Amino acid sequence: QYPFGRRLPCDIYWHGVSFHDNNIFSGQVNKFPGMTEMVRKVTLSRAVRTMQDLFPLEYDFYPRSWILPEELPLFVDEVRMMKDSDPSWKPTFIVKPDGGCQGDGIYLIKDPSDIRQTGSIQSRPAVVQEYICKPLLVDKLKFDIRLYVLLKSLEPLEIYIAKDGLSRFCTEPYQEPTLKNLHQVFMHLTNYSLNIHSGNFIHSDNVNTGSKRTFSSILCRLSSRGADVKKLWSDIISLVIKTIIALTPELKVYYQSDIPAGKPGPTCFQILGFDILLMKNLKPMLLEVNANPSMRIEHEQELSPGVFENVPSPVDEEVKVAVIRDTLRLMDPQNKKRKDIQCWLYPAIADGKLQLKPVKTQVKHGMKDKQHKHHSLKLSLKLKCQTSGHVSEANEDLLDTGPADGPEHETTRALEPELPSLCLKQVFPKYAKQFNYLRLVDRVAALFIRFLGVKGTTKLGPTGFRTFIRNCKLSNSNFSMACVDILYIDITRRRNGMGIDHKESGMCLQAFVEAFFCLAQKKYKSLPLHQQVTLLIDFCEYQLSVLDEKR
Ligand code: ADP
Repeated sequence: QYPFGRRLPCDIYWHGVSFHDNNIFSGQVNKFPGMTEMVRKVTLSRAVRTMQDLFPLEYDFYPRSWILPEELPLFVDEVRMMKDSDPSWKPTFIVKPDGGCQGDGIYLIKDPSDIRQTGSIQSRPAVVQEYICKPLLVDKLKFDIRLYVLLKSLEPLEIYIAKDGLSRFCTEPYQEPTLKNLHQVFMHLTNYSLNIHSGNFIHSDNVNTGSKRTFSSILCRLSSRGADVKKLWSDIISLVIKTIIALTPELKVYYQSDIPAGKPGPTCFQILGFDILLMKNLKPMLLEVNANPSMRIEHEQELSPGVFENVPSPVDEEVKVAVIRDTLRLMDPQNKKRKDIQCWLYPAIADGKLQLKPVKTQVKHGMKDKQHKHHSLKLSLKLKCQTSGHVSEANEDLLDTGPADGPEHETTRALEPELPSLCLKQVFPKYAKQFNYLRLVDRVAALFIRFLGVKGTTKLGPTGFRTFIRNCKLSNSNFSMACVDILYIDITRRRNGMGIDHKESGMCLQAFVEAFFCLAQKKYKSLPLHQQVTLLIDFCEYQLSVLDEKR
């Protein structure tokens, strides 16, 4: 640990909270710039909303949400309209403060008028969301799933999902929300940090029981009840890929700002925690994404009042050790070198011709073991991987270690013969063909970044916006440059007035996307929005390629 910074270059930098060190010029950092901002409740809701505008059916895994305070009137109106059109609709909503975690400040309401407007609402942005009233119950209890996802690279996009996760249980039997039980957090909120304080919380050494279990143990139960767990996994994979596709455009803006192209800098990767709720019909719904998921493998136990002790938590250990171990295996820079030299190195090791540096642990047999011991020493992690019954088989089909794992992992496996197979399974680019059509905003972001001009900024100035319009030939007699300026001012002022981020003046990506959608609607009337946007992107990219050729 280097609390005061380290200046000697490292292969891998493991930052505790976020990407924060601009003095790293090589290696790999375990956080992306801007990720913490991107997964805040308001920003995530906004990014998903943009995708819902383009692809409403594909993005129906995120509950309908409104951003407070700016959408409070919209929330009130929409709920009134829906209640008028369907008087039997008796919704519940959940209010979550932006930037909150561990259930902090969360409450349920039955009516928009119940929103607590304490303090200056302007300074307390929040998301209000439709409450999922019919979650899947196990042992009569509500639970959610924490899945670990490795974003290995942004460009090209590479995503891995851990085969197992955690299921975190409520500690009071679930009842659908009524005015009487709305306040019962142990019934409605699955947060571990809350439920641990309930007298009913069960710490268990068994991954199949207690208030925290492995997700695979739940799948096992579901499968024995005849549920289609294969379909469930593929829905979860699809949810994860689509969510990351919603986040990548803005992440790329942050990335180019902190690590400008063409300058020496590190590459990034990040372990994300996805919180997912299963509905009664087994549809997975995204609750939130954590940029800094807890990797603790111990829990506190109160020995006597006020006296706590850390004790190992086998369930956490089972899941999290594998995630960290495999992240390191995938990011190990030696993998790349190994790939290059494998053709001569591996046969030499196998023949026993190549001597490796002795390692301190006892070496059992042969050179392969030495190599392995060396690895297990470096990682010093407990290597376990539970696979049970036909659930993991079904799971394996979807998350198989097939060709998509790539040759580098073949090499890893060849040189780490005794390590368990990777618990992190690649899902992108493996399933890229099925999802690439959703990556429209990524292309809009590429245009935005091209016109940012000054390196290191995240906002487009009026001149940059004008240049974009001129170079893409979007101005004409119906849409003069004066109209362009008005569009810029209108959208930018409104966005900056929302109090999201007005440290830097100018047009942020979300505002540019809004302007781009406006232009697309103007130019290609009466088509669905995603078609209008696709046509405009094609048009702009074509104009720019012609310009580049001329230059
Ligand atoms: P936090 O970051 O504070 O944990 P979450 O968004 O994860 O906030 O919400 C906390 C808990 O509230 C979740 O773990 C889940 O049990 C419950 N919850 C959140 N959103 C919903 C929803 N839309 N419907 C039902 N339950 C929800």
